Amino acid sequence: MRRHVHRLRRLLPLSLRCALQEHSPSRSRRWLEIPGIERVAATGQAVLTFDDGPDASPESTPAILDALDSAGAKATFFLVGEQIAESPDLADEILARGHEIGVHGQRHFRHDRVSAGESVADIEAGHAAVAEVMETPPRFYRPPYGKLGAEGLSACDRLGLEVAYWSTWGLDWEPLPSERISRRVTRDLGDGAVVLLHDSARYAVRPSAIETAGAIAAIAERASQLGLDLVTLGDACRVRSPEAQPAQ
Ligand SMILES: [Zn+2]
Repeated sequence: MRRHVHRLRRLLPLSLRCALQEHSPSRSRRWLEIPGIERVAATGQAVLTFDDGPDASPESTPAILDALDSAGAKATFFLVGEQIAESPDLADEILARGHEIGVHGQRHFRHDRVSAGESVADIEAGHAAVAEVMETPPRFYRPPYGKLGAEGLSACDRLGLEVAYWSTWGLDWEPLPSERISRRVTRDLGDGAVVLLHDSARYAVRPSAIETAGAIAAIAERASQLGLDLVTLGDACRVRSPEAQPAQ
């Protein structure tokens, strides 16, 4: 049935599909059951996150890295184990250019469509792949499609991984132009925002991540106007808002 609905959605005009994505009450219900980071209690900072890489196609991760350098921004990349196996040097380069990497699983499963055993094994393998690149244990896990079950959450706890969702997104798995991606993101940019974007089109319906790369300058400009530094998720978690400081 779900697959049928998914197929029907693909027949809708893009604008209607995007409107449906915006209205997703099931997402907040699910995240209440399996909690994770949605935004960060950091004043003056926001976080850009990029999922699904590393992707060596010149219009994917390399273009995103160059755009981030031009914007003077640091970001968190949630890497897929099978993608690391194809482009290990690019995973190293993400780190070398000052960004953070996190775990996005080994094979980009929808964890509500696989068995508990497959879910746990995928998280463990993805964790091992990222740990090998970092040479230290990774800190964050982003479940593909924001879907995770109780067993997956237990596996994260065992591995010392914090589940990281997002507070806003660019809808950039759809074939949207840069202007629409940046407009969608800047609308909800603010203190502690965690922005979901993609540096690969491997699991998406668009041909490459070049439109996301093209959106970064405008997102960074708006962040600057708002007085926000674009930092990694790990760095943003270190800074707390004044209200969140413990009483002296
Ligand atoms: Zn993904």
